[in-house]
Amino acid sequence: MNNGKICVSVCAETADELIEQIKRAEDLADVIEIRFDCLKENEFELFLPKFYRDKFSNTFLSTMRAPEQGGKNNLALSQRKEFWLHSHIFESTDWADLEEDISEAEINNLWSKAFKNVIKSNHDFDGVPENLLGIYERLKTSQADIIKIAVQAHDITDTIPVWKLLEKAKSENRQIIPIAMGESGKWTRILGLAHGAFMTYAALDAGQETAPGQISAKDLTEVYRVKKLDEATDIYGILGSNTSVSMSPYIHNAAFKFHDLNAVFVPLQVNNLDEFMRRMVKPATREIELNFKGFSVTIPHKQTIIKHLDFLDETAEKISAVNTVKIIDGKLHGYNTDAQGFIEPLLNSYGDLRDAKVAVLGAGGAARAVVYALKNAGANVKIFARDLAKAKSLAVDFQVELKELPKTKDQNPKTDFKDFDILVNATPLGMKGKADGETPVLAEQLKGLHLVYDLVYIPFQTPLMTEADKMEIPKIGGLAMLIAQAIGQQKIWTNLDAPIKEMSRAALKRLA
Ligand code: NAP
Repeated sequence: MNNGKICVSVCAETADELIEQIKRAEDLADVIEIRFDCLKENEFELFLPKFYRDKFSNTFLSTMRAPEQGGKNNLALSQRKEFWLHSHIFESTDWADLEEDISEAEINNLWSKAFKNVIKSNHDFDGVPENLLGIYERLKTSQADIIKIAVQAHDITDTIPVWKLLEKAKSENRQIIPIAMGESGKWTRILGLAHGAFMTYAALDAGQETAPGQISAKDLTEVYRVKKLDEATDIYGILGSNTSVSMSPYIHNAAFKFHDLNAVFVPLQVNNLDEFMRRMVKPATREIELNFKGFSVTIPHKQTIIKHLDFLDETAEKISAVNTVKIIDGKLHGYNTDAQGFIEPLLNSYGDLRDAKVAVLGAGGAARAVVYALKNAGANVKIFARDLAKAKSLAVDFQVELKELPKTKDQNPKTDFKDFDILVNATPLGMKGKADGETPVLAEQLKGLHLVYDLVYIPFQTPLMTEADKMEIPKIGGLAMLIAQAIGQQKIWTNLDAPIKEMSRAALKRLA
C-alpha cells in the first residue's frame, strides 16, 4: 500500500469533448489533469461556463504546455502567461503545473487565492539530458511544492538516472514525479508510487495517451494494482525488444492478484541485454535497487540470456533457449516452459503422439522448443523453413529432416502436407502487427491433415485457422500454448498452483 495518486490526463479539442472526458475520468482518478493546451482557439471561453467544478470530488490540475514540452498547440509564451492570469483558472482548478518559463510567484501573488499545489515541470521528449541532476537542483530553487521531470527513454537503462532522482528527492524530503517516457520507461510509471513518487499519470483509455508510454488508468489500477504496491513488492517482468503487444502482464498479474501476492509483473523493454543485466540486475554491478524476482524472456533474448545465468535447467539446456528466469538470492536460474506449454494442448487434443507425422513451419526460437517437445513425445518431425542455411543447426541439433518452405506470395501449388498428420505454424505469419492477414499455407494444402496448430495468438482466430476451418480440420490456436507456458512460469516463481481460469480470462479479455 502507498499514498501515491493516479492522475488521469484529459485532452480534447472542444469544450464539450473535454467535459465528457472529465466525467469519464471521475471514477478512475484522484487527480484530473486538464490539458488546456489541447483546446482549439476560443474553446477555452466555452469550457469555463460549462464546467461545474463543485460536482466533482476529484482534485483538478491545470496544465498549459508549451510545444517543446509536449503541448498540442503552438502557443507563444505570452499566450500561455495570459492563460495563467485568467482568474477563472483559480476558481475551477486546485493545482497548477507550470513550466520553468512561467513564474509561480508571479501567478500566485496576482490573486488573493493561490493554487493549493504548484508542480514545476521539465520535459525532454528526445532523450535523457546529461545534466538531469542540475535540472532537479534548479527546479528545487523554485517555490513549487512538487517537481516533475519527464524524459524519453530509448532503452531501459535510460531509466536509471530518473529512478536515482526519486531516491535523491526522497532522502531530501522533496515531492517528486519522475517519469521515463516511452515503452522502455513504462515500469517507472507502474512502480513509482510504491517507491515514493508523488503521482503517476494515466491515460483515460488505451489509445488516448497524452505522453509516450502512458498506461490507461484502468490498467494501472486493475492490472498493475499500483496503489497496493510498496518497496517490498516482488517484481517480475517480460524481457523483450518489443513489449508493447505482450499479453504476459495481463496473464501474470491476474495470477498474482488471485493469490493476493505482493508481486507485480511489468513490461521491461530491453534492447541491450548486457547493459540491463550489468546496470539493473546483477547484485555486484547494479546501480539501482529493484526487487527483481524473475523474468519471462521473449524475442530476441531467449538464447542470449543464457550467458548471464548462474544455473540452467536441463530442459532449457537441451533446447538452448530460456523463456523463464527465477532470481534466488541474487542468482539467476534459467528454465524453459515453452516446450511443455506447447505439448500440453496438443496431447489434450490429439492424444498419443508416438509416430505421428508432424510438419513444423519455421525454424526460430519457438520452433526449437516445439521440435524438442515433439521428439520427446515420439513424433516424426520435418521442419519447413524459407532459409535452409539458417535452419540447418536446428535440424542437426534435433536430428530431424529439413525442407524448403516456398515463399508465400508465389506458392508452389503442388506443395501439400497430405503425408502429415499435424501441421504446426512456428512462423509469425498471421500475427497482428507483423504479418497481418497472411497465412503460411492455403486451405487446399491442408488436405489429409488431422490437426493444425498455430502458435500465433493475436488475433485469436488466425488466418491459418480460418484455412483449417474451410477444410473442417480441427485446430489449436496459440493462446492455449501462451497460457500453458505461463502456468509453468507461475509454478516456478511462486510454487503455487496457477489459477488457470483467471489467467485465461485475463488473456481473452485483453484479446477482445
Ligand atoms: P523467431 O525466432 O523470429 O522465428 C521465426 C521463424 O519464422 C524463423 O524461422 C523465420 O525465418 C520464420 N519466418 C518469419 N517470417 C516468415 C515468412 N514470411 N515466411 C516464412 N517463414 C518466416 O520467432 P519465434 O520466437 O520462433 O516465434 C514465432 C512465432 O511463434 C511468433 O509469431 C510468436 O509470437 C509465436 N510464439 C507463440 C508462443 C505461444 O505461447 N503461443 C510462444 C512463442 C512464440 P527466418 O529465419 O528466415 O527469418
